[in-house]
Parts: sequence; C-alpha cells; structure tokens
Amino acid sequence: MTTRNIVIIGGGIIGCTTAYYLTRHRSASPSIQITLIEASEHGPAQGASGKAGGLVARWAYPKEIVDVSFEEHVKLAEEHNGKDRWGWRYVACGSWEGRGDVVDAVGGTKSLKKTLGLPGGQKPAPSRKKGGLPEDLLWVKEELTDVYTPMAKDGATAQVHPYLFTTSMFELAKEKGLNFIKGRAISISRQDGRVTGVEYLDPTTHERKSIPATDVILAAGAWSPTLLPELPITATRAHSITIRPAEGVTIAPYVLFTEIDDLASATHSSPEIYARPDNEVYACGPGDDCPLPTTVDDVVVDAASCELIYSHVASISQQLREGTVDKRQACFLPTVSTGGGPIIGEATRIAKGLFIGTGHTCWGISNAPGTARALSELVMEGRIKCANLKKLHPSVIL
Ligand SMILES: Cc1cc2nc3c(=O)[nH]c(=O)nc-3n(C[C@H](O)[C@H](O)[C@H](O)COP(=O)(O)OP(=O)(O)OC[C@H]3O[C@@H](n4cnc5c(N)ncnc54)[C@H](O)[C@@H]3O)c2cc1C
Repeated sequence: MTTRNIVIIGGGIIGCTTAYYLTRHRSASPSIQITLIEASEHGPAQGASGKAGGLVARWAYPKEIVDVSFEEHVKLAEEHNGKDRWGWRYVACGSWEGRGDVVDAVGGTKSLKKTLGLPGGQKPAPSRKKGGLPEDLLWVKEELTDVYTPMAKDGATAQVHPYLFTTSMFELAKEKGLNFIKGRAISISRQDGRVTGVEYLDPTTHERKSIPATDVILAAGAWSPTLLPELPITATRAHSITIRPAEGVTIAPYVLFTEIDDLASATHSSPEIYARPDNEVYACGPGDDCPLPTTVDDVVVDAASCELIYSHVASISQQLREGTVDKRQACFLPTVSTGGGPIIGEATRIAKGLFIGTGHTCWGISNAPGTARALSELVMEGRIKCANLKKLHPSVIL
C-alpha cells in the first residue's frame, strides 16, 4: 500500500540529486513512491545543470550549505567512482589578469560573480614569482599575463562534469525505484492548506494529466516561479562553449577566472575557463536579460555571444585558438531577487507538504548534494539535521 507520494518537479541537478538522497534515505520503502517530472523532451540535465562549468569549492557560498555539500561530493565520488563516471577531480583554480591580443567585439554586462565566495582579506598570496604563472600552466600566453593569483589552497577546489553528474544522480535514483514522468508541470494542487497533487501536460498526447502527491518538491530552477509566483526568483541567461584542443595538445588542469583587457578596442572581458579531465575545455561568458522561454527546450542560443566568448578565450591562448569549438549553448541561472539564498525548506506559509529547492545562482553544482541531503531529511524526518539553514530562508515563503 502506498503511504506517501513524493513528487519532484524539475530534472536539473537539484531535482535529480534530491531524488538520489530520497531513494537512499533509511526511511525509504516501497510504500513511499518517489516521482520526478521533467519538462524537457530530452530528459534531465538540459538546463543550467547540464551546461555549467562544474566547479565544486570549499570557498563557495553560502557557508551553511557549502560545508555539507563539499563533503557529500567527496563521498559520492568515492562511492560511485565519480572520477570515471562524472569527471570528479581536484583542480587548481586561479585568477588571471592580463591583455588579450585578438578581442574583436564588445563584451557583455553581468558578471556571474563566483569569486564573491572568497573573502577579500583572506585571499591566498600570489604564486611563486610575483605576477608569474605556475610552471605547468602553459595554455595561456606568458607575455600577456600581468598577474596570476591562486584562489584557494590545494584540496579546496574540485570539479565535476555537471551533465554527467546530474544524469548519474538520476540513473542511481532510478536504480532505487524512482519513477520518471516526462511532462511539464502546470500547477500544484492544494486543498485545506496541503498539497494534493501535480497537474502536468503530457508531451505526446498534449493532454492535461495529474498525479497525486502528499509532498511536492519544487526544483524547477529559473522556472520555479511559473508554478509558485510568490518565489522571489529571477532568471539570467548565460552562454558557454566547449573547445576541443588540436590532436596531441594537453591542457593542464586549471580553472581560470580571467580579467582580459583588449587595449586595441578598449574593451574588457572576463570569461571563466575550465579545463576538464577528458581534455575538453569549457568557457562561459556574462549573463544577459533575455526573457525566460516556456521550457528549457525553447532556450535560444545567440551565435554572436558564443563567438565573443571564443574570441576572448582565443585572445590569451594559442592552444585554445587552434582548437575546435564543439558546443555553443545557453541556459538560465536561477537567482534569489531579494538577495541571499538559495531557498531550501518547506513553504508552510503557502501549503503543508510543499518543499522548495531553488535559487542556487552560480553555485548550484557545488551546493546540490548539501541541498539534496537537507531536503531529504526535511521530507523524510521532518527537520534538517545536517545544517542550520535558518538564515537562508526568506520569511515570506518558508
Ligand atoms: C554559465 C554557468 C556556469 C555555471 N558554473 C557553475 C559551476 O562551475 N559551479 C556551480 O556550482 N554552479 C555553476 N553554475 C550554476 C548552476 O548551473 C545552477 O545553480 C544549477 O544548475 C541550478 O540547478 P537547478 O536544478 O536548480 O536548475 P536547472 O538546471 O535549470 O534545472 C531545472 C529543471 O527543471 C525543469 N523544469 C522547469 N520547469 C518545469 C516544469 N514546469 N515541469 C517540469 N520540469 C520543469 C527544467 O526543464 C530543468 O531541467 C553555473 C551556471 C551558469 C549559467
């Protein structure tokens, strides 16, 4: 007999990782049905979670969730061979400042601001020689470098391939009984102050269908307010590309936060560049104000924005200039408009049994396991034990 129907809306990293922790919670049993609904025709991880850089850092923010999340990433990688399965590895990370030699267009507007996690006064000292590059960081031009500064101590920064991590969480949850529905949730039904179900559109028949729910976890990223307008979440589009270096060129494992001045055009750009274990290189640019489309499958990729990222990256690296651009993509980042966040908890002011996991800004990959563990404790045990998240909660909702 089914005693609970837990429905997760959204197959990004937050929804899939929450499904993983719920299906492996010690209270999980066949009488507790867990279902994930994802709107994309192509399955999970089609949004920001499949198109992010993949940095996992002890120096991310907010601290309350980071402290849990980093350790959970380490455990997950050990338990499921994350090294081979989702590209888990420790990585060096630094800020690079200098000049570019071929920037040929004007940059964007909104920085994604990952470096906000580093308290200004506590930055580690610059590397061995002042303004110098590490010996093995050969894929940026030395003569264009003004200063390279390591951003954290060894062991404080790691990375995953975000698409592989998210889809692995999804597959591992399915192995433990997760049900999957492809469809776009259109409303969360409530009665007498409790959630009762989720209505969704079946993508094949275009019919309106519903699934009963005792508990609903809203993890629809930037789309979360379309189901719960009270949520103070805004959406920012960001573009990224992946570059495959030429045959035989090895890219040393560094993640660089760049500040590039193009003196000829008097422009400035700050792409983030991530070397990945399979020698793929990922780079992302600034955010823009493009409106959020109906679903993740309708996200429009602006070719010029991708070209701009490539030209900025190529302006400081011969190796990347000679590589081939593989993917040109865009996605929407969910940000808490009232500041702070992410929003993690039960929206008791709206309905009992309605749980929220969204607003992770530029740290959702890093903070997903901590968020998922907290949500699984809240749903299964009635309270979050792994962290004190009270300060993250905007009181209007939770
Ligand atoms: C360029 C860029 C680089 C980044 N790099 C990093 C990084 O290096 N490290 C890091 O920690 N974070 C990074 N991030 C942030 C990270 O990508 C996000 O915080 C995270 O992916 C958010 O995950 P999510 O599951 O909340 O949202 P999403 O990944 O957007 O997933 C939401 C899912 O919900 C689905 N959905 C929406 N509406 C519905 C509906 N009505 N019914 C059913 N399903 C629905 C969507 O289709 C989607 O699959 C980066 C972000 C960007 C944009």
